[in-house]
Amino acid sequence: MAKKTVLSNYEETEICRLCRSGLGTIDVGSLFNVSPTPIVRILEKNNIKRRKSSVSYDEESFWNNVELCEPNRCWKWRGGFRSSGYGHTSRYRKDESAHRLAWEFWNNKKIPKGMFACHKCDNPACCNPNHIFIGTPKENSEDMVRKNRQVSGERHWCSKLTKEQVSKIKEMRNNGETLTAIGKIFGITHGMVGHIASGRNWKNI
Ligand SMILES: [Zn+2]
Repeated sequence: MAKKTVLSNYEETEICRLCRSGLGTIDVGSLFNVSPTPIVRILEKNNIKRRKSSVSYDEESFWNNVELCEPNRCWKWRGGFRSSGYGHTSRYRKDESAHRLAWEFWNNKKIPKGMFACHKCDNPACCNPNHIFIGTPKENSEDMVRKNRQVSGERHWCSKLTKEQVSKIKEMRNNGETLTAIGKIFGITHGMVGHIASGRNWKNI
């Protein structure tokens, strides 16, 4: 179930009551199906000391970098961006895509290896977990075809591949996908995939 971002007065009062009685923000969050960040804000507003031990600093600081708004709107990433338009941040000194972390924090599980976090809204800066779905490389490419971003052929591969597609190609290659399989998905030859993956072309992505 998707987590709520807007809370009623009754819910706010109940959250304050439970946190005053000593429950941690994550526990209270799961009772009300809310991520910890709005709860921390409510506690600050009401001058209630929260129990530090059960707060995931990691998740809290992550959501502080996201413009949380209505559940159906795009939630823009406020941190750094890659040239592909995707937000990114470092976690445990590892570079991570913001939208992937958003999905993982919200659903409290890891994205399976080799799978993609795809945007329903086609907005790479968006971190609204309701706009993100997990797809296989095949589903990801089918999704791109639906959005008319598929390349038409080798002749146009250079001008027609979007930056986003190029970074996807690199990502798939890093995940161990074969040149041929990637080529089929994007409608380019395996040689072209090799060029892109090795950085001979599109160096800036
Ligand atoms: Zn969105």
